[in-house]
Amino acid sequence: MTRRITCSRLLVPLLALAAVAAPCAPPARAAAKIKIVTATSDMASLAQEVGGDRVEVESIARGYQDPHFVEAKPSFLLKLRQADLLIIVGLDLEIGWLPPLISQSGNPRIQPNSGGYLDASQFAEILEKPAGVVTRAMGDVHPFGNPHYWLDPENGRRIAQGIASKLAELRPSDAAYFNSRFADFDKRLKDAEKVWDAEMQPFQSRKVVTYHRSWPNFLKHFGLVSAGEIEPRPGIPPTPSHTLELINMMKRDNVKVLLVESYFDLKTPNAIARDTGGQVVVMPPSVGGEKEITDYFKLFDYDLALLIKAFKATQ
Ligand SMILES: [Zn+2]
Repeated sequence: MTRRITCSRLLVPLLALAAVAAPCAPPARAAAKIKIVTATSDMASLAQEVGGDRVEVESIARGYQDPHFVEAKPSFLLKLRQADLLIIVGLDLEIGWLPPLISQSGNPRIQPNSGGYLDASQFAEILEKPAGVVTRAMGDVHPFGNPHYWLDPENGRRIAQGIASKLAELRPSDAAYFNSRFADFDKRLKDAEKVWDAEMQPFQSRKVVTYHRSWPNFLKHFGLVSAGEIEPRPGIPPTPSHTLELINMMKRDNVKVLLVESYFDLKTPNAIARDTGGQVVVMPPSVGGEKEITDYFKLFDYDLALLIKAFKATQ
């Protein structure tokens, strides 16, 4: 008797709720969008390019944050819990903040080695792979090679293709759609690369100093040369002795341009620029690093424009 009363009490509100919710439900034939969570905004942009309107993409890290050190909001646990696919940069870029979120999400689809876990580094050309024993003891945050590989458009192409294949695997009925989205992206990227490469042609072999080693793929692609970093090692803040060596080198080799990722303190870069007659260029390394950098294409448009201006001013 008690059980019957409880049941009917529960049933009435549930039925009422169903009646209200029904008109808002999507048409039965439309497949739900594939829910993608990415570690960074660059992966989100590439996923959106190939996923189009069949996916829902959200990035945990914002483009203006240092991707090595992200404070992830707890609200992302809910997104991860519901995700069909998680795309990470890998090579330990997210080691300091992502693994606990993945395990706490309790979502079996996105656990490492599951079908909904995609490490994009497998598709990309990885530079600076260490030879010999790998250790983080020296504070080096790039123990498995350089994780900032998305800053070469060729790697962007490879990652996009890898994501398209993964989406086709998760949703075979939309495979043709994802493949054609990739073909379109590939064509637009080729067109953009022609423009970028022509713009950068006059500056081949120019030397630059960077704050962090975020740019080896970028520098390689655009024919530039790294003369050194403001950080003594990736992830280690500037030291007076290293800064002095850098200043002497820049004077000796006539290096005038300092690339600084937007999330680093400008005190040391500005001091170096004053001492060497150089110029600091604050360059976002990710989509969303500035308001107008709304996608992968605009990231290169924005950064190359800044760089060209600095090269011209220091010729
Ligand atoms: Zn790094």
